[in-house]
Amino acid sequence: MSSKKDMSDKFNDLSDLPIAFDSSKYITCPYDKVHRLLPQRLANHLTRCSRNHPSSKLVRCPFNSTHLLKKNELIPHLSTCESSSVYTNFQFPDKLPESSTASEDIVPSKEDWDAEPPAPTYKPISHPEDDFILRNLQGAQPAERRIFRAMERKRFNEHKNKFSK
Ligand SMILES: [Zn+2]
Ligand SMILES: [Zn+2]
Repeated sequence: MSSKKDMSDKFNDLSDLPIAFDSSKYITCPYDKVHRLLPQRLANHLTRCSRNHPSSKLVRCPFNSTHLLKKNELIPHLSTCESSSVYTNFQFPDKLPESSTASEDIVPSKEDWDAEPPAPTYKPISHPEDDFILRNLQGAQPAERRIFRAMERKRFNEHKNKFSK
């Protein structure tokens, strides 16, 4: 079990250490005190390291998977976990005070838009005859549709002739 892989894991962790070792920047692996790593490497490391400690009784904080604690430490941790607020904001983004402030900030800029001359309403180019015919076609059978279409076309032509006279 103490294979090549374990050794390479250890080597990778040690290679993270800078020449001037600043211990305050490093955190200790909850599985093994010997493992010291940068916070951004912890999540990755824990995934690998947990395999080497299958009998570990450590439980993961629901707010942050890199928080590993003894079972009896979890409840006190939850009330102080700095990730819990992030998690709450993520779950309930509406409750973020920042988001309502942000939308209020957008409103004044609308005045600039109003100062612009109103753009003409976009009118898609369509065939008036098709508009007329397609009005009542929904749900019709193909055969019915063909007859209906012929009838409507005839009616439309009559309608058009009436107004063009
Ligand atoms: Zn470790
Ligand atoms: Zn936590």
